[in-house]
Parts: sequence; structure tokens; C-alpha cells
Amino acid sequence: MPHIMEVDVAIIGAGTAGLNALRQIKAAGQSFVLIERGELGTMCARTGCIPSKAVLHASEIMRSWAEAEGAGPVGRVTENANRLWRAARATRDESARGMAKETLELAGERLIRGDARVVGPTDIQVDGRLIRARAIVIATGSAAVVPDKWKALGNGILTTDSLFDLDTLPATMGLVGLGAIGLEMGVALSRLGVRVTGADQSNVVGGISDPTIADVARQHFEHDMTMWLGESVDIERNSAGRFELVSGGPSPGRTEVECVLVALGRHSSLPELELHNAGIEVDQHGNVPFDPQTMRIGDSNFYLAGDVSSARPLQHEAADEGSIAGWNAVAHESNVGFRRRVPLSIAFTDPDFAAVGCAFDKLAAGTLVAEGSADTNARSSIAGQNDNVVRLYVEPGSGRLLGAALFAGAGEHLAHLLAWAVQRGDTVAELLRVPFYHPTVEEIIQTALHDAASKLNFPRRLDLASSGHQ
Ligand SMILES: Cc1cc2nc3c(=O)[nH]c(=O)nc-3n(C[C@H](O)[C@H](O)[C@H](O)COP(=O)(O)OP(=O)(O)OC[C@H]3O[C@@H](n4cnc5c(N)ncnc54)[C@H](O)[C@@H]3O)c2cc1C
Repeated sequence: MPHIMEVDVAIIGAGTAGLNALRQIKAAGQSFVLIERGELGTMCARTGCIPSKAVLHASEIMRSWAEAEGAGPVGRVTENANRLWRAARATRDESARGMAKETLELAGERLIRGDARVVGPTDIQVDGRLIRARAIVIATGSAAVVPDKWKALGNGILTTDSLFDLDTLPATMGLVGLGAIGLEMGVALSRLGVRVTGADQSNVVGGISDPTIADVARQHFEHDMTMWLGESVDIERNSAGRFELVSGGPSPGRTEVECVLVALGRHSSLPELELHNAGIEVDQHGNVPFDPQTMRIGDSNFYLAGDVSSARPLQHEAADEGSIAGWNAVAHESNVGFRRRVPLSIAFTDPDFAAVGCAFDKLAAGTLVAEGSADTNARSSIAGQNDNVVRLYVEPGSGRLLGAALFAGAGEHLAHLLAWAVQRGDTVAELLRVPFYHPTVEEIIQTALHDAASKLNFPRRLDLASSGHQ
């Protein structure tokens, strides 16, 4: 019988979610272990948010150079691009090192390195060690989806887990999957001078549910890279050992590429944990029912946090879910339900695309859709951002803002303003009274609000509240 280590809370996974859970448990002074089988430093810092945005930043610099000086000789372009790529990697390395250090400081000797498996309702096994915990937070994240037959093609089949380890940029790259992450990387790489051929079996890029925004995004990014849309593709190795992206769609074609980035999404790591040993069944998609307000799985001892639940696979949501799970693991007998923040997702493709609040495909029938665009926006004209567009979803009776979608330069900032307005429950009338500076992209929101006001049949209007004086 191995020695059993007993703690109040065991956390599996030292990513964003696990670390936020840990902060709650430490603040409550409870005993804990933090179990991690991979490299420290979190996915966000090592292979997710930080490197992807660092590479997008590099690609922005490259684009500005090209605009200022013209493309320049190929050799110099490649040299500059590789220098920027290495700078992005250095940013990533520094960020990951910082997170790894923070993890060690937070967990101290309570960090256990190894692969955890659930062996009972309160028990976890880590490479032969047995840990018993009153409550267990599962924060084990996700893994990139790569079909086995593509994995078998060997080096050169990349995911975002391996992309940022490339020392130099390839001249050509295939990209399978044009969701938000695929699109971000395709745009970044092509602006860094890589010839990218991107493919997706859907006709919609970026997973954008608003059809107007989806159309604008597709048309815009077709200028950045070749896109094969609405066609399933295969990857093959030709007789010269090079990769070929092969279209099986209506316009059959093949193109030779140096490597292929597979961006087909990520699957939960939950099935690996053998939760059935605790009487919890995980479905074929790797999901298990849980309460998103408490993060608890039924009335079990287990809490989910972060990408492992597949519900809101974003960094700020992983942080929230870790905090909620940690809070409730501490107060295991008296869970608290927490209100979740308004949904907010942003792709940093410059122009960015973003969705806020209720998604277009979830809107109730009769929801009013209002629009503002670059057509009447001076700042968009100045910046040459003629595709900028903001769409607002408004509740007809109350005039309350329910959600929004947009495609715009500096769209990340517009998306935040709109998310804050949705969460506050602001109405069109209230939002029309806040200041809009001229000339700014924010004025597109003002135009969209005016459109909403006219569709709401507001009477003769002045966008200022009365001071009360006669
Ligand atoms: C390319 C890319 C770009 C992204 N960009 C953004 C962005 O711009 N903004 C944003 O909000 N989100 C972004 N995301 C998503 C964001 O990175 C994730 O939502 C977040 O990092 C998830 O954190 P997590 O704690 O759930 O998982 P992770 O950080 O993956 O942590 C899970 C940990 O569990 C460990 N583990 C797994 N199984 C076991 C086991 N059995 N035993 C022990 N340890 C185990 C793993 O090794 C891992 O360290 C991006 C993701 C990707 C891939």
C-alpha cells in the first residue's frame, strides 16, 4: 500500500486556470498540491496568447515597413522577417520564464511533477504516488487536434504547439483550418513574407457567426493569403518528400508547401483522466455536465476550470473559472454561484474582428440589428481602413444593447467598450449620451447607435440629457 498524501485541495494542471485556483486556496490557508506533467509557464505564455500576439506584432512592423519603403529586395525582406520572428520568440521566452518562476513561487514544494490520473472519488495517482483530497480542481487544458494520418507524415506538420519553435520562417506554408487562431497565424505569417495557402471546409472564416462581418473578413483576408474555402483538403508527401496540400473540393488543386500548420481546433484533455474511476462519465466529445457558475461537476468532489471544459476557451475565462473553482473547492460544503462576464472574443488580425455578448446566431427573432461603417467615418478613411464595420444587436422594446460584432482597425478597443456597455445593461439612448471624440473609429459605434435609434423610431432627438433647467 503506497503512502497516501492527504490535502484539502488538489489541482491538476499549472496553466492559467490552475494557477488562479491555487491563489484562492492559498488565500484561504488550505493545504494543497499542484500537479503538472508538462513544462511550466502556461499555454497562454508558451504557445498561446503571447507568442501568437508577438508574431502578429512582428507582422505589423513588417507591413508598415513594406508600406513605407516598398517591398524591397527579397533577401532583405527575409532577413528582416526572420529577425522580427526571433524577437517575437524572445518575447515569448521571457513571458514563459516569468510564468514558470511565478508558478514555482506560488506552489513551492507543493508542486508535484507528473501525470495525474483519477483513481477514486477523492483520490489521484501521480506516477505511483497516491494523493487524497477533499476537493479536486481539474485544470488540464486541451490538446491540438491533428488527424493520425497527418501526424504520420512527420516533421513539418505543425500546430501552434510547435510553430513558435521554428528557428526561421519557411518560404511557403499550408494552413488547414481558418478559425480565429488559424486566421491570426495565416495573416501574421503572410505579412512576414511567407506564401500561405489556407483551407477550410467551411465558407465562413474565423468562426464568425454574423454574416456581414464574416463576408467582410473573408474578402479582406483573401488579399493576405490564398484561401480554399468550402473544400476539404488532404496533406500528402510527394516523391521529392515535400508536402502537398490537396484540395478535394469543386476546384481540385494541389500546391507544394514547406510545412503545414494544422489549426483544426483543440480537444479537451478530460478523457485522459479516467474520471469513470470516480463514477463520472465523460461523453464521446470529452464533455461532462458541470455548473458554469460553481464549476462543480454534479455533486462530486471535482471542479473544472479553463479549456478542459471546452465551454469558453479563452484566457480571461480560464482565469475566472480557476478562481471560481478554487473558491468553491475551499468552501466545498457551501458552494457559491458566480455570475459570468459578458462573452467577449477578439481576433487580432488588424483589422481585428470581435464578437461581444449574445452571438448573432443566438439572437431572439425580432432583435434589431443596427450598423455603422467606414463609409461615414473620417478616421477610417485617413487610415485607409475602408472595410471597418460595427453591428449592434438591440432589444426592440427596451433599446438595450444585447451584443455586437465588428471588423475594424483597433477593433480590440471598440470590442471592450461594447462589452462593458452590454454588461452594464446600457440602452441605445444612454450610449448616445456618452462623449465621442472626433475623428476616431469609435464614431462608427455612434453611427451604429444612430441607426439603432432611427430603427427604434426614437422621436425628435438630441443626444444629451436635459439639465432640468427651463
Ligand atoms: C495559438 C493560441 C492563441 C491564443 N490566443 C488567445 C488570446 O489572444 N486571447 C485569449 O483570451 N485566449 C487565447 N488563447 C486561449 C488561451 O491560451 C487558453 O484559453 C488558456 O491558456 C487556457 O488555460 P488553461 O489553464 O485552461 O490550460 P493550460 O494553460 O493548457 O494548462 C493546462 C495544464 O495542464 C497540464 N496537464 C494536462 N493533463 C495533465 C495531467 N493528466 N496531469 C498533470 N498535468 C496535466 C498541461 O501540461 C498544462 O500545463 C489562445 C490559444 C492558442 C492555442
